[in-house]
Amino acid sequence: MASTASPRSRSSASAGGGELAVIERIRSRATANSGNPKHLRLGIGDDCAILRPPPGHDLLVTTDFSLEGRHFRRDWHPAASVGHRTLTRGLSDLAAMGATPLAAFLSLALPKNLARNTTWLDGFFDGLLALAHEHRVPLAGGDTAESPGYTRKRDARSPDIRVRSGHILADIVLLGAAPAGRALRRSGARPGDILYCTGSLGGAAAELAALAVSPRKFRTANADGDHPHLFPRARLAVGDALLRRRLATACIDISDGLSTDLSHLCQASSVSAELHAASLPLHPLAQQLGPAAALHAALHGGEDYELLFTAPAATKLPRSLAGVRITAIGRILRQRKGQPQLTVIDRDGRRSALEARGWEHLR
Ligand SMILES: [Mg+2]
Repeated sequence: MASTASPRSRSSASAGGGELAVIERIRSRATANSGNPKHLRLGIGDDCAILRPPPGHDLLVTTDFSLEGRHFRRDWHPAASVGHRTLTRGLSDLAAMGATPLAAFLSLALPKNLARNTTWLDGFFDGLLALAHEHRVPLAGGDTAESPGYTRKRDARSPDIRVRSGHILADIVLLGAAPAGRALRRSGARPGDILYCTGSLGGAAAELAALAVSPRKFRTANADGDHPHLFPRARLAVGDALLRRRLATACIDISDGLSTDLSHLCQASSVSAELHAASLPLHPLAQQLGPAAALHAALHGGEDYELLFTAPAATKLPRSLAGVRITAIGRILRQRKGQPQLTVIDRDGRRSALEARGWEHLR
């Protein structure tokens, strides 16, 4: 990969044993999957990648950690899901700003045993590169290292004690382009705007809850089925349509949960908002939880990776954009002293303050 060819990495590779083999494996797989080379002048193989953004565009950059034990568990998430989700986190940030992805960069730290036995790594890249291919995003560089870890000696009296090593740490950087000055921001919502979301909510939290109960049931999961937690979809085409058709005044992706991300949008726009509980589009998996838990998953469940956006009440929005359903879920209000920033209105018209209680990953 571009920066993995640096002398610094080479010296650490000789200490790490299988690391050069890991880099070579990544390099050959990434090159075979080079995506859209139009804006990538030079990918993996030199000290830096060279990008040439389209003329008249701003360059957008986002970075996201995927950490074992915080964002995924090896015993719950198939390796392909971890790769898919790592890239989705970055893609969804670009989608939220209406940007088109140009290239991805990945830094990956693996425990020693996973650098030697590449089954997990191959699965991870199966997931990541399939999604990269779908969105024509070249993997243009990165770095690898052995993650710091420890081993515990097996105790003869309790032979089933697990020998543990380090954690998997993945950091993805996504570069994207948007027409100069027109990237969608969180800060443009105005009182009177209508609040919309894409797709459905609560599915990721519902699938995660099911995973926690019986992880094995999901081990054979693949990207073809609907797996809102294991294989979420970033709404790039919707973000692109919102920008090009000048439909949205503000936009954010729902990565931390509707309540938390709506509070981010309100904070950035200096406004308040009210949500209609009955209008929230609940994912079928969330609906199976029963009404109260489904509402909780939709409001506070994380990682749905849908878009939350605002548009003036006079703007006619289609029922769907790029094949994804659009639902009006509330309204932007003027900020008033002593009033809650977020209010939820239940089916009987009762109003109550809504706390931002986004999902705290695996904590
Ligand atoms: Mg985001």
